[in-house]
Amino acid sequence: MRQLILLLGDHLHPAPPALEGFDPAQDGIVMIEATGEGTHVWSHVARITLFLSAMRHRAAELRAAGYPLQYLALGDAAHAGAALTDRLASVLAQHRPERLVLVEAGDWRLMRAIEATAAAAGVTLRVLDDPHFLCSHAEFKTWARGRKRLLMENFYRRMRAQERVLMDGDEPAGGTWNFDAENRKSFGAKGPGALPVVRRFLPDALTRQVMAEVQQHFPGHPGQLDAFDWPVCRADALAALEDFIRVRLPAFGDHQDAMWSQEPWLWHSLLSTSLNLKLLDPREVITAAEAAWRAGAAPLAAVEGFIRQILGWREFIRGVYWFDMPGMKTANHYGHHNSLPAWYWTGDTHMQCMRNVVQTTLKHGYAHHIQRLMITGLFGLTAEIDPAAVADWYLAVYVDAVEWVELPNVAGMALFANGGRFTSKPYAASGAYVKRMSNYCKGCRYRPEQRVGLEACPLTQFYWNFVDRHHAVLASEPRTALMAKNLERLPEAERAQIRNEAQARLSQLDTL
Ligand SMILES: Cc1cc2nc3c(=O)[nH]c(=O)nc-3n(C[C@H](O)[C@H](O)[C@H](O)COP(=O)(O)OP(=O)(O)OC[C@H]3O[C@@H](n4cnc5c(N)ncnc54)[C@H](O)[C@@H]3O)c2cc1C
Ligand code: SF4
Repeated sequence: MRQLILLLGDHLHPAPPALEGFDPAQDGIVMIEATGEGTHVWSHVARITLFLSAMRHRAAELRAAGYPLQYLALGDAAHAGAALTDRLASVLAQHRPERLVLVEAGDWRLMRAIEATAAAAGVTLRVLDDPHFLCSHAEFKTWARGRKRLLMENFYRRMRAQERVLMDGDEPAGGTWNFDAENRKSFGAKGPGALPVVRRFLPDALTRQVMAEVQQHFPGHPGQLDAFDWPVCRADALAALEDFIRVRLPAFGDHQDAMWSQEPWLWHSLLSTSLNLKLLDPREVITAAEAAWRAGAAPLAAVEGFIRQILGWREFIRGVYWFDMPGMKTANHYGHHNSLPAWYWTGDTHMQCMRNVVQTTLKHGYAHHIQRLMITGLFGLTAEIDPAAVADWYLAVYVDAVEWVELPNVAGMALFANGGRFTSKPYAASGAYVKRMSNYCKGCRYRPEQRVGLEACPLTQFYWNFVDRHHAVLASEPRTALMAKNLERLPEAERAQIRNEAQARLSQLDTL
């Protein structure tokens, strides 16, 4: 065999880059399911199902297009082993190809393991940069090198100009780069009102078969499968894109930071899974959104806000991950070492905000951005939980989780574990923020405005304790000086009480 092409589970591109120049007479293709990829973090059953079902759908398409494909299913006895690389080693021994070819893995750990496996087998490895992304590693490095702090907004403007997205000549459309000031509204007491119906994708026979195998091979894993309805193939993903652009994009942004119990989707796009599996190309998503604005079907503020997430945040986060790994994985700026409370896996807590977000996550494998950042992430930060434990949880429970996108969001954005490499301040807030942006506090056992006492909201108490602990640094930075100033207004006796009560609670997070 001249070359063996390895298609990984999140490399389901419509036109696989690794298949360019494929010659069936001397080349082979392999796709590998491995239990180890679902157990190295204790993965949600919906996350495993999504990856495996999408892989099997893609395999069927490739076979129908005439490609010879070797597919190792979970139960394949001929190539035993839990680790993907054990199974790969067995396939390499079987075919003895001159070369192993793959698009770069989305996970530093897996990429290094594949390199080691190829080296041990004496097979040359060819790793292709992933053309799915608009910014290559080389371009990102050139931009980032020498900058002390990496600011997404600068990167985003450069990408807009370079890719000619939402530009009128050399100027940003509408005369400004960023319409964020028009987003971020809360719902008020009445809530979101009537919400658009979201198009969902009921499991077909192939997905149902995968579900049965996942139940068999991954007993005791978190999450539920009865609500599983994610796009698993390109046709579904295109339908999901069309539905979002037509139905929810016009109001995207207005309430991007708002949360409401029992309303998991709001106006979010739900496209992260299709993008991360490479069923959708970011260019077609961006083009569709811009076209909706140019056709008068969606306002510029909504379209700019959405495009910024894809062309800005998503590309930036991917660049940062490869630029800062492997150090990002062990970063722990504040030296936090508390264990992750057991209720992160069950939702069994008195904190209504946490219960709601964890339960939604267990049901769908999904929570929207602000729930991830300002509920489960915020708690992880101010409850002083070990960043590695928090990151493993995020990687396990979200259907769109691949480490290149999960880790920078957790370590960099939510936990400030890398010391503000690309955020100008920690995302610390009290229960007052949650009260303003959601209805979670209504009926909660705790009181969001209360800093001390049995009914003190843990988020509020931990927030003030966090500001107290880091007072000197926060006071010295213009963007956080107000947090420090507000703490100084509290009587010393109350500050001491916050410290004492917070210490007691921090040592028994499981009971909250
Ligand atoms: C702590 C934390 C962990 C996260 N983990 C993941 C993850 O594992 N996988 C993942 O895809 N996203 C992750 N995100 C980013 C974001 O929350 C999700 O992309 C988004 O919630 C997915 O839902 P959606 O498709 O409805 O997004 P929308 O709200 O509709 O946003 C549109 C798209 O923009 C992109 N996007 C938006 N924000 C980000 C961001 N911060 N980083 C990268 N892309 C972004 C996504 O592709 C998303 O589909 C995380 C964010 C935080 C704060
Ligand atoms: S009172 Fe505190 S713990 Fe309860 S829902 Fe509000 S923010 Fe969450």
